[in-house]
Amino acid sequence: MSIKDPTDLGKTRLLEIDRNRNALLVGVYKSKEEKNITLEHLDELKSLAATFGLTTIDKICSPIRKIESSTYLGSGKVSEIKDLCEKLNIDIVIFDIDIAPHQQRNLEKEIKKTVIDRTELILGVFAIHARSNESKLQVKLAQFKYELPRLKRMWTHLSRQRIGGKSGGYLKGTGEKQIEIDRQILKKKISDLQKDLDKIKEQRLLLRKKRKKFEIPSFAIVGYTNSGKSTLMNALTDANVLVEDKLFATLDTTTRKYYLPNQQQVVLTDTVGFIRKLPHTLIAAFKSTLEEAISCDILIHLIDVSDPKAKVMAEASLEVLKELKADKKPIITCLNKVDKVYDQSFITYFKLNYPKTISISALKKEGFEDLMDKMIQEISNLRKIIKLKIPQSYYKLVSEIIKKGRIISLNYEENDILIEAEVPKMLQKKLEMFIV
Ligand code: GDP
Ligand code: MG
Repeated sequence: MSIKDPTDLGKTRLLEIDRNRNALLVGVYKSKEEKNITLEHLDELKSLAATFGLTTIDKICSPIRKIESSTYLGSGKVSEIKDLCEKLNIDIVIFDIDIAPHQQRNLEKEIKKTVIDRTELILGVFAIHARSNESKLQVKLAQFKYELPRLKRMWTHLSRQRIGGKSGGYLKGTGEKQIEIDRQILKKKISDLQKDLDKIKEQRLLLRKKRKKFEIPSFAIVGYTNSGKSTLMNALTDANVLVEDKLFATLDTTTRKYYLPNQQQVVLTDTVGFIRKLPHTLIAAFKSTLEEAISCDILIHLIDVSDPKAKVMAEASLEVLKELKADKKPIITCLNKVDKVYDQSFITYFKLNYPKTISISALKKEGFEDLMDKMIQEISNLRKIIKLKIPQSYYKLVSEIIKKGRIISLNYEENDILIEAEVPKMLQKKLEMFIV
């Protein structure tokens, strides 16, 4: 690969690859007990590859005793992969582990095919799904950060080509210099992008403050990718979010108003899903969106309970929530896809081990009453019921209570209004002097 134009820098190579290609997946395990987990991860990698448009032809799940510093795998394994690539007409080899930039270079040299790792594949998937300006910038930022230590591979063709030539030594030096120049350009791009993203973040912060001022309880639907978050969002609101049996179909968050059966207004946010081994470059790049998404009052943790891997997926999601410091918020555990559950013991497991668990089918719109009940209950946990005596001349305050809280009873007594109401925390302060 050669770079003619410096603006090409940081473009993931993956996007330049024709997406209708054949892939070979490679996973490794250290102990026998790890083998099954590795196989599961390879399944997930296959879905990621399919989402990107690659066809998985074969998988290799190999035990590994010692990591070879130059090629990660031992030479025997590497030549086995090379032969398999030729035999099966493979175009691209995808490792389920993070391989170092120099190992990747060496593997490509040996195998003579494009070699990528899980992070690069996820970056590619994110890149093709980014819709909004912000998510496009975020993906770019993650790509640049990923490419920075890998610039060398783009120039190896130069060094290799000319090493044998008359002035090989000199030209090789040129290659090295070029890498340094590119590195500086890329670093500058990274800091520019960061600034652009900071600006967008500021704007969003303003919006969020505005929403907070209105004290409307907010819920975020979070969970593993493909658990049905967007399906639930669409079933409840008119959001019309893209639903696909693909990983990371949704990168942008969508927020909509929703009225609970008791006429309580709430806001619902659909979020990007989580995945095991989510690349750090991506968490970092998406941190502000994720934080924004979960800067809500209550989380709805959606779990695809029909998936045999439901338990580890749920744990992985909680891990990410922890990383984003959102694990202390009230969480409603919402088991989804109960219409196709094959193992009922999963439901029991979650009911015993997770807080506030209910079951639904977002697709069939079943179990929604339970979900609503839990939502109402959680809101009232956030709020307090108080009794007030307010002079009638303070009618503005009364209408604020009606708007932001829930009136339980309202009576007139001479010039005062007697109110029993459930009110949000913020309003409680303002009402302090009228509490009876
Ligand atoms: P997201 O990645 O969490 O937003 O998941 P999506 O909402 O895009 O859904 C992923 C896939 O799961 C789609 O094919 C949905 O049709 C399917 N799905 C969602 N909810 C249910 C459900 O309750 N039952 C069944 N059987 N499939 C569902
Ligand atoms: Mg979605």
